[in-house]
Amino acid sequence: MNQMPPSGLGGSHQSFTRPPGTPRLPRIARGEGVWLFDTDGNRYLDASSGPVASNLGHGHPRILAAMAAQARQAVFAYPSQFESAANIEFSDRLARLAGPGLERAWVVSGGSEAVESAIKFLRQHAVVTGQGSRWKVIGRQPGYHGNTLGALAISGDDHAHEVFGPLLQAVPRVPAPLSYRLPPNHTVETYAAACAAALEAAILREGPETVLAFILEPVGGLATGALVAPAAYYEEVRRICTGHGVALIYDEVMSGAGRTGRFLAADHWPTARPDVAVLAKGLSAGYAPMGAALFPAAMVDRIAAAGGFMHGFTYSAHVMNCAVGAAVLREVEEADLTGNAERMGCLLRARLDAIAANSPIIGEVRGLGLLLAMELVADRGSKAMIPLERVAPQRVGELALRHGLALYCRRTSRGAYGDWLMVSPPLTITAEEVGELSDRLAATLAEFTDELRADGVI
Ligand code: PMP
Repeated sequence: MNQMPPSGLGGSHQSFTRPPGTPRLPRIARGEGVWLFDTDGNRYLDASSGPVASNLGHGHPRILAAMAAQARQAVFAYPSQFESAANIEFSDRLARLAGPGLERAWVVSGGSEAVESAIKFLRQHAVVTGQGSRWKVIGRQPGYHGNTLGALAISGDDHAHEVFGPLLQAVPRVPAPLSYRLPPNHTVETYAAACAAALEAAILREGPETVLAFILEPVGGLATGALVAPAAYYEEVRRICTGHGVALIYDEVMSGAGRTGRFLAADHWPTARPDVAVLAKGLSAGYAPMGAALFPAAMVDRIAAAGGFMHGFTYSAHVMNCAVGAAVLREVEEADLTGNAERMGCLLRARLDAIAANSPIIGEVRGLGLLLAMELVADRGSKAMIPLERVAPQRVGELALRHGLALYCRRTSRGAYGDWLMVSPPLTITAEEVGELSDRLAATLAEFTDELRADGVI
């Protein structure tokens, strides 16, 4: 008989990710709305929607009902053998919400797969249209597009590249227009302009005929801490890509599906539309593993006419996932969750700004809608970072749990660009819950500040 290990990490996910001897994480029992409950009876406000995924909160009755109804019909049917009403409804809704130019949805199981699909699609399209010399995908430094080898290759994370570099196709990267610590003699606007100019220089250096695409997170995720560039940056990037025949991909894995107060973050800059958009996370709000790459109908028609997209997975257009996605999109529209993200985003932003004004360790609050981040610093004047060995984001995450707050606080790029916390609760959050989140966050940061003071760090 197999015996469960009595204690320790056993064979769980944690055994891969946390050193032996590390305190165990709380064990999930159930979720309801913005709250998560552990098996010891503690409750946590889901302040970051897990990794910015649970856009509808937990235990949503309409999504659960849709799952049960679909389960009674068909959970899985292979998409090269059967079409499904769930896939058709999901794709049609998504295309309508995404708007002109993004009419076709290729449905997969997550963000990394969606990014891979976007790249392979564009590459095949280039081959089919006589542009076979184009293959390079330019990304930003820092930036994140997923953990599979292709997606990691175009992600700007030096640490991951140090370890996995030999397996990755080297592609050029250009600086992301970081806004907090600027190079000397720059404003946010002039630095963003310089970053856009660096894209054009990279395209010219590589040879425009070799460049397939440029990928960016229009509102940043964990890699930049909800970075938003000045409007002129997006317009300039659009102009450069168009000028050189380079496809512009917006990675909206985090920012899409209503989170920033528009259905796509791209909708904030209507004159800088992408050619391709990639979504995941909020698309199924954590109720199913799901991602999608959105393409213009004309491009899809060309690929189909040339024999079809040479790509696919067992779980492409998975019937249950599509039913969940369709139910999520229905709810996003009918409950006006995009509008709520904008309204609650304003409220939360004001509360975070107030916390920052009274905290010696918050340097900046940034983001759009309910995709917000707080920059952690040791000194607001000099913008000095908290010493790296304190691993400030992780520590804040641990303290937050004690205050009944689940925060997404993983450090990226070994903290080379700074430390921040993602504050990105479900789009269903109420004003009262925004207040509760803010109070718990303020208490967490006050405790961390005391800890740093006691140790003479600040
Ligand atoms: N792109 C971005 C911007 C992301 O934030 C993520 C996930 N954090 C991904 C891609 C990869 O998505 P997944 O983890 O679902 O593969």
